[in-house]
Parts: sequence; structure tokens; C-alpha cells
Amino acid sequence: MRRIVAPEARPVRMRALLFDGRKLREVERPLPRPARGGALVRVRLAGICSTDLEILKGYFSFRGVPGHEFVGTVVSAPSGRLAGKRVVGEINVPCGRCALCRAGLGTHCPSREVLGIAGRDGAFAEYLTLPARNLHVVPAGLSDEEAAFTELVAAACEVVEQVPVSRRDRVLVLGDGRLAAMAAQVVSLTGSRVAVLGRAPRKLAVIRTLGIETFGSREGRRFGRRHDVVVDCTGSPAGLSLAAALVRPRGVIVLKSTYRGSLDWNPAPLVVDEITVVGSRCGPFERALDLLARRKISVRPFLTAVYPFERWERAVRRARGAGSFKVLMRMS
Ligand SMILES: [Zn+2]
Ligand SMILES: [Zn+2]
Repeated sequence: MRRIVAPEARPVRMRALLFDGRKLREVERPLPRPARGGALVRVRLAGICSTDLEILKGYFSFRGVPGHEFVGTVVSAPSGRLAGKRVVGEINVPCGRCALCRAGLGTHCPSREVLGIAGRDGAFAEYLTLPARNLHVVPAGLSDEEAAFTELVAAACEVVEQVPVSRRDRVLVLGDGRLAAMAAQVVSLTGSRVAVLGRAPRKLAVIRTLGIETFGSREGRRFGRRHDVVVDCTGSPAGLSLAAALVRPRGVIVLKSTYRGSLDWNPAPLVVDEITVVGSRCGPFERALDLLARRKISVRPFLTAVYPFERWERAVRRARGAGSFKVLMRMS
């Protein structure tokens, strides 16, 4: 296979942030080597996501370099199509051989690796590797900062990929973080009536600047069960029971939250009212890039701060802060 190398001086070692199961620390290590069909990517920006914060608390069994939201430049790739291009990348690396992979459901492959989350070093480093087929070229009109939101916007797009939303539907998004903000924007594009129910007044105020109706939790209690679709982006176990209290009989609840901990709640209302519950995770990158490039989705108001690599500790602390939407690190 022909390996095309972009004209760029390539060092042999790189800086990375390594999680050893207890804490994150800066290390120097050799550049990762792409496997067959893989590309070497120099990371420009990496986003800190709530999953990363959970990993750093030790809630996952992951050990290695975290980080799965990134925009980077391809240093080497198996074909000329990607060499030197600015890219974002899908995070699941499936085995390609099992029944689910053969059925085209690689994101559900039981032995998949997930960038910076499971079995594969991620984006909190100067370089990473991914299969070339995972990479998508960033349209020229998008800044690095905007492109760093692709994974998040794709996850929001997955809601309408899985659940057909019509313009007659009333949709309620639970949560006030960046995923709630993206999901509300994506669903709005269907022409349906969308509102966001959240807790933090300052975050809701930012979401309101996009023309999306928002409500605080106290107002929400008076809503009653009138929503055709409720999308839970709260990231907390309370989200599902709240959703069940706000969705109409025969309505749909879309669960975007993953969390540690369990539900202490009787799911009988789901049975009695024949509610459909849809789990929803990663989504289509091409659609997300298209929406971003056509300015259909606004991400700028949700960029909290960009820190240089050297200030990664501060970046992580800021990402944990209650008022933060999205914190990025400039890795190289
Ligand atoms: Zn994430
Ligand atoms: Zn597989």
C-alpha cells in the first residue's frame, strides 16, 4: 500500500496526558504508529467532554491517553485523499469481522475500541492514530474551534436519525449543557416546537439567544404530560423519571445521558402509557459537518475557553466548573 507523507518535519516523541487509573499527568512518549489502513494525525484542538471527566474520576476502566473530541491535521495516511488535510474523526474502531460489523453496525461491535475511552489512546496528545475511514475532512469555512464541536453535533443529529420528528410535534429537551443546546438546535431544524428545560439560569440564557424557548425546573413541574418527544440530556439518573412525567402516553423518550449510578424508580408508567424509550449515542459526522458549514447550528456561544497544552490542569478544572459549556485545549 502506498503511504503518502505530508511534507512536515515529524518528531519521534510527543507530549501526551496519561491517565494511570488515579490521576492525569503529562508524559513524553514515542509517536503512535498507525496500523494498516490507519492515519497519523497531529492534534490541533482537543475538547474536554463529560465522559473524559468521568474517566478522570476512575469511573471507567480506561487507562491511557483520554480525549475523543478533536480536530487535527493528517500527517500520513494510506492514500493521498487525506494527506495534509484538516480532519475530525469518528471515535469507534470496530473489529470489522463480527456479525454486527458485517451488518454495518460497527459502532455496536462488542470488541470495538473507542478513541480515548476504551482500548485506544485518544486526543489529549500531540498525535493520535485512527483508521483513515474514520476521518472526515473539515470544510474550509469552518474554524478549528467550530470543527471541534463535530462529535457533539453528530450525537445531537442521531436523535432525529432515530426518531422521526414532524413539524406538528412538541419536543422537550431536558438539560442545559452543550449536548442539550445542540440537540435543541438540531431538532428545531425539523420545524417542530422545541423547548429546553434546565436548571442553570445563566446557561439557559445562552440557549435562549438562539431563539429557543427555555424553562427552569420549577416552571417545568407545571407542564404536565403533553410532549410528543422528550430528549434527556441531563446526564443524571433523574432525567428518565422526569422525562416520563413530561411525555404524553404513546410518546417517545430519547436517552442521551450516560452516568454512573442506578435508577431508584418504578418504570410502570412506561408500560401503562406505552412509552417508547430510545437509547441514543454517536451520530453521523458528515451531516454534522454539513450543518456546521451551512451555519445551521451555532456553536460559538458554547465555547467557554481555549487553553494551551501547558495549562491542561487549568483546562480540566475549568471544564469541571458549573458554568462551563465546552473547554478546548490547543495540543500542537
Ligand atoms: Zn464526548
Ligand atoms: Zn466487530
